[in-house]
Amino acid sequence: MTRTVRSPTDHVVVVGAGLAGLATALHLLGAGRRVTVVERDPTPGGRAGRLDLDGFRLDTGPTVITMPELIEEALGAVGEKLGDRLELVDLHPAYHARFADGSAIDVHTEPGAMEQEIREKVSATDAEGYRRLRAWLTELYRVQMATFIDANFDSPLDVLSGDLARLGALGGFGRLGPRIGKFLADERLRRIFSFQALYAGVPPARALAAYAVIAYMDTIAGVSFPKGGVRALPQALADAAADAGAEFRYGTTVTGLERSAGRVRAIRTAPTGEPGADGDRLAADAVVLTCDLPVAYGLLGRTPRRVVPTRWSPSAYVWHAGVPAGTGLGHHTISFGDAWAGTFDEIITEGRLMSDPSLLVTHPTATDPSLAPAGHELVSVLAPCPNSDRAPLDWERIGPRYRDELRAVLAGRGIELGEPVVEHVITPDDWSRLGLAAGTPFSAAHTFAQTGPFRAGNLVRGEGNVVLAGSGTTPGVGVPTVLVSGKLAAARITG
Ligand SMILES: Cc1cc2nc3c(=O)[nH]c(=O)nc-3n(C[C@H](O)[C@H](O)[C@H](O)COP(=O)(O)OP(=O)(O)OC[C@H]3O[C@@H](n4cnc5c(N)ncnc54)[C@H](O)[C@@H]3O)c2cc1C
Repeated sequence: MTRTVRSPTDHVVVVGAGLAGLATALHLLGAGRRVTVVERDPTPGGRAGRLDLDGFRLDTGPTVITMPELIEEALGAVGEKLGDRLELVDLHPAYHARFADGSAIDVHTEPGAMEQEIREKVSATDAEGYRRLRAWLTELYRVQMATFIDANFDSPLDVLSGDLARLGALGGFGRLGPRIGKFLADERLRRIFSFQALYAGVPPARALAAYAVIAYMDTIAGVSFPKGGVRALPQALADAAADAGAEFRYGTTVTGLERSAGRVRAIRTAPTGEPGADGDRLAADAVVLTCDLPVAYGLLGRTPRRVVPTRWSPSAYVWHAGVPAGTGLGHHTISFGDAWAGTFDEIITEGRLMSDPSLLVTHPTATDPSLAPAGHELVSVLAPCPNSDRAPLDWERIGPRYRDELRAVLAGRGIELGEPVVEHVITPDDWSRLGLAAGTPFSAAHTFAQTGPFRAGNLVRGEGNVVLAGSGTTPGVGVPTVLVSGKLAAARITG
């Protein structure tokens, strides 16, 4: 039996209408709680954000959706179905991978198509290796989901179960890079199935093999894009929550918590952008904080108790542009540089920009042309970069130059993005301005010491009726994981 917050819990205030907050709200509503969601932005989504520019509808966060069953589960909590709220278009292939030697491999999530692609572009041996890799990834996911991802921990001892032994037997505690290498000989394929470690904030060579579970979500479980853009996902969840009775207060920033006798009794708010203005007081039986961890701890007036300081994930520089139609790109292209291990060292250890960058180029209008005005397309380039803890770079100066450099690199690799008619750059400074620690949207890295039961928990000692949710707490960063985190936070309240 895991711990829960103390009664009463009739009216729950959820701070933040990002995906974690929305999932929390839906699961609480399903369990009969009254829910008020307070969000500083005018719309839901948080890091799964949106920006409208002259008729171009940009998504500023994730570029695709994985693990739709977790969306289904959140909507199911209030008796709704995904298909009634959201139209997901499956991406085939999930990615186009392009390499410095001019070669290309498409990443299919359908097993037969991927085996054939590998047989044609690489070798029959690696096609066979892929089949074994796929079986391993699937089993790894199965074991991990139940015990390590979809579980509330009260102590590291909670994971001492048969599944821990099974994860060990699967090689989950070895290193990711070498493990993938046991299945695949081709260096390009090894990259395709291990680069996802960067999402967890760790180089593949050092990441726990258990993190191959992200490759499972990305390369096996299926990848899709919602009609209307990724923003349609938080909007759908928010609409379902509102229809199930949740009250949403947008444009409202939570500025403080009122407490007595070990409980938070109310939250204090102010209109966003007017911190000095007279705000409201909203009484609460329980509170779920989904803002970035340091902000949540700040509201609680606490400093997290950690033996070693938090290690933050690398950040991302993102260039969005509206361009004339005709790029000819698929939805997702990963343009790999020649360099590999050194690239991770540059951004994670040395605090430098990538000298031979690997880049994610997204072309959402390949799947939904309605996101751009007629005759135009949307493109974005995401370049992993150091977080501002590792390297406080002068982004105001570097930002525009870096965009030119990345476009030139891509053009040199045969990817021409056209002359922008609108553009928008997001740097670590912008992530910092949103209150995200170390200027990264990817929160605490998933090092061993910040993973599973060792990650900042969703209950805070001494806080009788406060629960944390979102990417800084368990299980971690990413769309599927924060949806789970919302469910786990709700379970801390409802039991
Ligand atoms: C560029 C980019 C690419 C990404 N790519 C992927 C990907 O490919 N796959 C993947 O799985 N994940 C990806 N992610 C990560 C994913 O988007 C996040 O992990 C997830 O959306 C975080 O959700 P959250 O609810 O934890 O936090 P948030 O979305 O940050 O939600 C917190 C909410 O709280 C609000 N808030 C904060 N402080 C206050 C306050 N004081 N008062 C009121 N409201 C407040 C914020 O406005 C925000 O809406 C990406 C993120 C980015 C930015």
